[in-house]
Amino acid sequence: MKALRFHAAKDLRIENIDQPPAPGPGQVVIRNRYVGICGTDLHEYASGPIFVPTDAHPFTGATSPQVLGHEFGGEVIAIGDGVTKVTIGDRVSVQPLIMPRSDEYFADRGLFNLSGSLALVGLSWISGGMSEMALLNDYNVEKIPDSMSDEEAALVEPTAVCVYACDRAGITAGDSVLVTGAGPIGMLALLCARAYGATRLFVSDLNETRLELARKIVPGVITINPKTDNIGDVVRAHSQDGVGCDIALECVGNEHALQSCLDAIRKQGVIVQTGLHPGKGSIDFFQLTFKDAEIRGSWCYPTHSWPRTIDLISSGAVPASRVVTKKITLDRAVSDGFDALLDPAGSELKILIDLAS
Ligand SMILES: [Zn+2]
Repeated sequence: MKALRFHAAKDLRIENIDQPPAPGPGQVVIRNRYVGICGTDLHEYASGPIFVPTDAHPFTGATSPQVLGHEFGGEVIAIGDGVTKVTIGDRVSVQPLIMPRSDEYFADRGLFNLSGSLALVGLSWISGGMSEMALLNDYNVEKIPDSMSDEEAALVEPTAVCVYACDRAGITAGDSVLVTGAGPIGMLALLCARAYGATRLFVSDLNETRLELARKIVPGVITINPKTDNIGDVVRAHSQDGVGCDIALECVGNEHALQSCLDAIRKQGVIVQTGLHPGKGSIDFFQLTFKDAEIRGSWCYPTHSWPRTIDLISSGAVPASRVVTKKITLDRAVSDGFDALLDPAGSELKILIDLAS
């Protein structure tokens, strides 16, 4: 079957590989339909391997070359012994985290995303979304309703990241929320925050095209370009008594953005760090103490959040498909997908690879 595999930084190859083996007990095989290109995939391409294991992954044994793609959905075409969760023909969205299911500290507490042996489909597993088929565990697939499109099935994963960020932030109705970074995660975070009842939304980005997109995707959002305006000043100017916003979701992974969040929140405000910082950074710890503030990390999502995230999207509460700016074929995925997204002058947001065309 055709697959896009990571071999090394700047070396992605579209090649023919073996089809997945027949599913073992508790496993399924799906025919992939749409897969999203994620920032994580771009990091692997630009400067990996980061999450792709160089030696065999201690839990799954996977190593490069690795089929990429962890944001996807498809149709179940084979099931192994003991699988009752789905049946052949079911349309599913993939929850890509893989880990021991018990006999481990976090797994025994249901905190599967925090497992010390965590692996991901499309990064450290035999299969990924950027191929015609994938072998998965039954806990990796969640049936989707007829009202959910195949494109939306591929958007559940990035949306689940944002749902969890909103949970970690404790967003409640009437909150004011700043999101730093108007990439796909930032946009979905804004849409989720609105679904949670946040009424005043702000987003900052250095890219004017992305701010323009944000105003289309999230009508009413106040956009801020830190090249010309101070983020904290704009947020305070639009907040009750000029105190700042209740919540900030940092979706860049950058110390300037984090510092802007700390500046923009009100006293006792909450920051959730969603973007991955590539290196170390510094922030004004005096301000953290003085503001009686909190900074919380947010790692992936609880694996049980899939049905809820599917409901949020299929009900229309989170119109996730608004972030899709282009659909491409697997043959052209490197040039039209990865390179297009890495182009600093580019205007693409979320690109989906259509595996049926
Ligand atoms: Zn991702």
